[in-house]
Amino acid sequence: MDLHTLYRETQNWRPTPKMPVLFLGHGSPMNAIEDNPFVQGFKNVVKQIPEPMAILCVSAHWETKGTKVTAMDMPRTIHDFSGFPLALYEVQYPAQGSPALAYKTVQALAPVPVDLDYDWGLDHGAWSVIKHLYPKANIPVIQLSLDRTKTPAAHFELAQQLEPLRHKGILIVGSGNMVHNLRRLNFSRAEGYDWAIEARHLINQHIKHRDYKALCHYHSHSALQLAIPTPEHFLPLLYTLAVSNTDNEVLSLFNDELVMGSIGMTSVFIG
Ligand code: ZN
Repeated sequence: MDLHTLYRETQNWRPTPKMPVLFLGHGSPMNAIEDNPFVQGFKNVVKQIPEPMAILCVSAHWETKGTKVTAMDMPRTIHDFSGFPLALYEVQYPAQGSPALAYKTVQALAPVPVDLDYDWGLDHGAWSVIKHLYPKANIPVIQLSLDRTKTPAAHFELAQQLEPLRHKGILIVGSGNMVHNLRRLNFSRAEGYDWAIEARHLINQHIKHRDYKALCHYHSHSALQLAIPTPEHFLPLLYTLAVSNTDNEVLSLFNDELVMGSIGMTSVFIG
C-alpha cells in the first residue's frame, strides 16, 4: 500500500473513548503455553478493556539503532529463544499487522524519525502475552522498537507522543519485566531475593506515586541497578506510564510476584 493510501485510510479513523493501557510482565516464554496464575491475570485484565481497533506493542525483545515500527500486512511469529520444548516453537500467532497504524505511529512520533520495518514480525515479548488477551488473533498487532541509543528519559519523552493513539481505539501494550536479572536466576527458588523484593517495592511505589522521574533515573539506587542490569526489559514500562501521565485514571497492579529469585512479573493496568 502506498503512503498516500495509508494517509487516506487513517483520516477516516473516528475518535473513541480513551483506551486503557497495559504493561505486562512476560517472564519465561513458557507462560505462552502454560496455564498459571500469571496467565489468569492476563485473561482477567482483558475483561476490563473494550475491544481495540489494533494493538501497538513495545516489547523488550526488539532493540534497534533508531526507532522502527512494523508495517507488514502479516507479521510472522518469531521464536526468539532457545532450549525450550518443541510445543513452544510450534506456537503461531497469526494476527494481522496494520500498515495504517504503523503510518499513524510515524506521524505521532514526528519529528523523531521512525522507519517502517518489513523484516521483524511478532517476537515472544509480544505474542506470548497478547495470545492470552486475544486468543483468536483477531486484533491487528504492530510493534514499535526500542532505540538502544536513547536514554530512559528520552524513551519516556518519545512515548508521550503516542498518547493520541489511545483516543483512536488503539491498545498500547508494554511487555517486559520490571525486575529482570538473568545472571542471578535461580530455577529452584520460588520467591525473590532480598534486593529484588526491595526493587519491586521501590518501583511499585514510584508507579503508584507517579514519580516517573525517579523511574527514568533508576541507576541512582543499588537495588534497582541489580534489578535492571540492562534497560530493555524495563523500558517498555516507561512507554506505558508515559501515555498515562494524568491523575484521573485508575491505576492497578496485578501479577505482582517475583519468580526464580530475580524476575518480577508485576503488571500494570491504567484506564
Ligand atoms: Zn523477555
